[in-house]
Amino acid sequence: MEEKTINTIEKDILKVLISERRLKKRVREIGAQIAADFEEKDPLFVGVLRGSFMFFADLMRVCPIPCGLDFLSASSYNSGTSSSGVVKIDYDIKADIRGRHIVLVEDILDSGNTLYNVSGHLKDRGAKSVKLCVLLDKPARREKPIKPDYVGFTVPDAFVVGYGLDYADRYRNLPYIGVLKPEVYEQ
Ligand code: 5GP
Ligand code: MG
Repeated sequence: MEEKTINTIEKDILKVLISERRLKKRVREIGAQIAADFEEKDPLFVGVLRGSFMFFADLMRVCPIPCGLDFLSASSYNSGTSSSGVVKIDYDIKADIRGRHIVLVEDILDSGNTLYNVSGHLKDRGAKSVKLCVLLDKPARREKPIKPDYVGFTVPDAFVVGYGLDYADRYRNLPYIGVLKPEVYEQ
């Protein structure tokens, strides 16, 4: 039988920035650190949809302590080319978080607007503490005074995709973090 060649998303990747093996190792280290820090605290892990979904799922698997989980989704209003810094919660958590310790899980910390606003929102809802766990940190573009508590990797100021992160809702299903070929944006 003739074998059909599948046109995969890999062809659009210029280079692999963080391999599947490095991601797995680092996520295991963060999971162990959070497990040690929150052992007796019954934390609620809150994932910021949609970019964090893959990191979130892998992190849960390597953090074997009593905990709960929930999700929210947020978007920022843009005025022209720059982010206005105003963030809207499109979909909120269902859990009652009064008195709970929260581990807020996000794919990437860039300007800081999203996590600054979302962590404020969770504190307003009565959270006892909010710790920030990000897979990637891009400190070059920070606008808000915000420091993550757990960081997977610090990355340079380049647009990255894969392992949950998208470009035009594509490439989230790549198992690694990569940089797109410039012609993908220029299309
Ligand atoms: P912030 O509010 O910190 O500026 O933005 C965080 C959000 O911007 C992330 O959740 C992500 O959706 C998006 N973002 C920032 N940098 C990148 C990037 O390099 N690649 C992708 N795919 N999204 C990014
Ligand atoms: Mg996001």
